[in-house]
Amino acid sequence: MTTHQVKDCPTDRAGAVRTAAGAVVPLPAVRITGGLLRQWQDRNRQSTIPHAIEQLRAAGNVDNLCRLLVDDPPAYRGRYPFLDTDLYKTLEGLAYEIGAGSAGEGAREFFDEVVGLLEQVQAEDGYLNSFFQDPAATKKPWEDLTWGHELYNLGHLIQAAIAANRRMGDRRLLDVAVKFADLAVRRFGQGREEGICGHPEVEMALVELYRETGDRDYLTQASLFVDRRGHGHLQHSIFSPEYFQDHLPFRELPSVIGHAVRMAYLAAGATDVYLETGDRSLFETLDRLWDDMVATKLYLTGGLGSRHSDEAIGDRYELPSERAYSETCAAIAVMQWAWRMFVATGGAKYLDVFERVLFNAYAVGLSAEGSAFFYDNPLQRRPDHEQRSGAETGGESLRRAWFRCPCCPPNIVRWMAQLGDYVAAERHDALFLALYAEGRIETDALAVTVETAYPWDGDVQLTVDRAPSRPYAIKLRVPAWAHDVTLDGAPAAAEDGWLTVERNWNEGESIRLHLPMPVRAHLSHPHLDATRGAVGIARGPLVYCVEQQDSPAPVDDLVLSAERIAAADISSSMDGLPGALALRLAADVAPAPAPELYPELTAGRPAIERTATVPVTLIPYFLWGNRGSEAMRVWVRTQ
Ligand SMILES: [Zn+2]
Repeated sequence: MTTHQVKDCPTDRAGAVRTAAGAVVPLPAVRITGGLLRQWQDRNRQSTIPHAIEQLRAAGNVDNLCRLLVDDPPAYRGRYPFLDTDLYKTLEGLAYEIGAGSAGEGAREFFDEVVGLLEQVQAEDGYLNSFFQDPAATKKPWEDLTWGHELYNLGHLIQAAIAANRRMGDRRLLDVAVKFADLAVRRFGQGREEGICGHPEVEMALVELYRETGDRDYLTQASLFVDRRGHGHLQHSIFSPEYFQDHLPFRELPSVIGHAVRMAYLAAGATDVYLETGDRSLFETLDRLWDDMVATKLYLTGGLGSRHSDEAIGDRYELPSERAYSETCAAIAVMQWAWRMFVATGGAKYLDVFERVLFNAYAVGLSAEGSAFFYDNPLQRRPDHEQRSGAETGGESLRRAWFRCPCCPPNIVRWMAQLGDYVAAERHDALFLALYAEGRIETDALAVTVETAYPWDGDVQLTVDRAPSRPYAIKLRVPAWAHDVTLDGAPAAAEDGWLTVERNWNEGESIRLHLPMPVRAHLSHPHLDATRGAVGIARGPLVYCVEQQDSPAPVDDLVLSAERIAAADISSSMDGLPGALALRLAADVAPAPAPELYPELTAGRPAIERTATVPVTLIPYFLWGNRGSEAMRVWVRTQ
């Protein structure tokens, strides 16, 4: 590392040249002007961000920095050495809002206060971590890479810093991040100490720092961190090497494994490395791991991680509903990986997973009013269940205001704030519409306005406000669940998930895509024992569930058929959940015929008798748990 200077004129276009074949160029900061995603972003500004700032202050995250400015500092507050990251994630979210001119009251003050503290607390050599910088800390800097999370902290610092530099034109945090990153490169670079962080995250950030600064050392460092795993560089104690994805070199992993968030962050970082190096063997690994994950390890909601033990992913087809861990951070991590795989290839299948996660496994992590959070996101709640929310017991029966390990809430904050980054991309003379949201997309070549009520409705109208001067393609994503798609009223066929409309466009010209959204019934793979004999209900990208409040019979006794699901009434009136579309349908009631847990299988034993037919209402899964803590099911019995 020869310089701490960063380039002037930072670009949102990720300035570095991508060498991956087929890569698209993301179009960041698309302005979302209406619809569900806009409601989420407004809620983030008005409710979640002020709440997060209040909680960060109350939990001591700010005090942990302040105290280092006085002699004989008071003790670090909190249990974990990575609590600075909750500030960084919040700063990242604030940077998008401040940059867009949409930040709420107090946001700018908090941003400036924390950035000022970070500048003052950073050590002369660049090191920055409020846990380890305490002279009284039980461990010294870099002493415990397995659990110290120092490089994980650095990763979140870099991401916040790049957001501030790009969106606000404020490089103060970037100067701090570069100084710390340079220290890490001096210590762990090529031919130096062969350390890696116990928690991947810094890989993604270092590649982005390379894009931001043009300094290739950061890309090399990210690549080193990916390939150093699996070579015995971490000290393992209570958790197995698999937990850290450290039992095998990354390129030899047979499947996604171990701690879910660590795994998906690592894969996302490796995809970034591939994007900038074009290393085909790395992509072949990513491609294999991705397909295996989607085919065997993702919940219907897009959630990843079925084990509370070790917050781990679990075996293939090990996907229990009531014990789904499906951490909110893992949902964000899968979206990060999915987006990068899309950017690397232009593949629509990655975006199908992205939106499945976005509208289900991710969105469910936040309450409807925006200030309570799930850490784990099960697909079933039994009537006598106590929601444990990660490793914590007691307290709230559903979502809670904050956690002792609060990784998820500020992750939600930053992700909501950057949703406009995942709407569109461009390649040569083609615009890719990745996500349907009301808004305006501008590129050098054209500007289009998108009008839609997606995901509640599959009609999408595009109007060209500024036309290209040459033939240009608009590529509309057709999700795998969409059949009988029409364009301007005529049947239209998608190729590999894209409907391509290429022509000489005129200003004011419109096209209208119609994605039919019938109510769908989903079965499970026969090896997925936990949901055998049950059906999952979905419409468009939304998974639905039944809560006890909406059924006159116990939800565990309800039986649905494909015919009844197809005949469901789509209703907009939903008490307590304004704006949501509910599904109303008839279900049979089939209570257990006998109290035995394991009745003997005998020839001629009668089928479970259906005693009644009742009207039930299904609500979008992401909205469950907002009207009291009662039983809930995504998978409903079919027998
Ligand atoms: Zn989390």
